[in-house]
Amino acid sequence: MNILAVDVGGTKVLGVYFANGVIQAREQWASQSMTWEILKDWLRTMVGDLPVDAVAVASAGRVSHDRIDPLNRSVLSWIQSIDVRADLARQFKAPVTLVNDATAAAYAEYCVRTSGDQPEPENLAFVTVSTGIGCGLVINGRPLISGTGLASHAGHIRGIESPETDELTICSCGMPGCIESRASGAALGRQLSQRVGQQVTAKSLFDGSVPEAVSEQLISASARQIAHLIDTLHMTLDLDQVVLGGSIGLQPTYLSQVKALLISRELIDGPRIEVAECGHLSGVQGAAFIAERQLLMDLAND
Ligand SMILES: [Zn+2]
Repeated sequence: MNILAVDVGGTKVLGVYFANGVIQAREQWASQSMTWEILKDWLRTMVGDLPVDAVAVASAGRVSHDRIDPLNRSVLSWIQSIDVRADLARQFKAPVTLVNDATAAAYAEYCVRTSGDQPEPENLAFVTVSTGIGCGLVINGRPLISGTGLASHAGHIRGIESPETDELTICSCGMPGCIESRASGAALGRQLSQRVGQQVTAKSLFDGSVPEAVSEQLISASARQIAHLIDTLHMTLDLDQVVLGGSIGLQPTYLSQVKALLISRELIDGPRIEVAECGHLSGVQGAAFIAERQLLMDLAND
């Protein structure tokens, strides 16, 4: 199967052409200088005369079945009012699948764990802790995709009160107290800047440039919020597997803190918690897997 997969992120747009699961072509573009017409030209040039059986698009933001609401409009406003599905279907004469990038990453992580020694997960949550908090879910072996694109936005679950995090900071969703506004990289950068009296980013927490006591306190407070998020998801969905990703989630000290905080219920087994394996290709890989799955289901129903 030949799949053209695109990952639209806040920093870069990545395009990959897969022929039977093998990468044949790959291009990258800065999101800041992208437009919809440039993207289409670029993809057309990358594919050339190669056959396309399906187009798969993973994107940050709220992704419905035909459109993308980027939420981060400072860099992705160019895709906001486009009928992405219809336009790409016309362009490539192939079915188009749109999916949130964290959902795509969740499905990629699920697929790499369905072969190997450990028990196959049925219910998997991918939680990315980076500038924001992203979440994607695979339930009973299927990616959770809702028509309006709201499903899995678990970063906007209300967090737990703590002295380190900002109780009254208004989140990008308009509410105070979300986990995203307490535990994300942006939140950690804000909290750290207040502590050290100058503008710094969350990166400083992990490079030894701020006092250890401060970084330990803030990282631990963020890990507590993420443990609360995972616990809430687990008690709702009975997760077998949680995968942590993102620049903060991939820090070894962060994973061990989240794991330690989750060993708290005596009668209920917790999910396995591991770091992500698929790296920066998880969006295009997961979207391609989902498009392939959809295409096979459509063929079976014909
Ligand atoms: Zn929120």
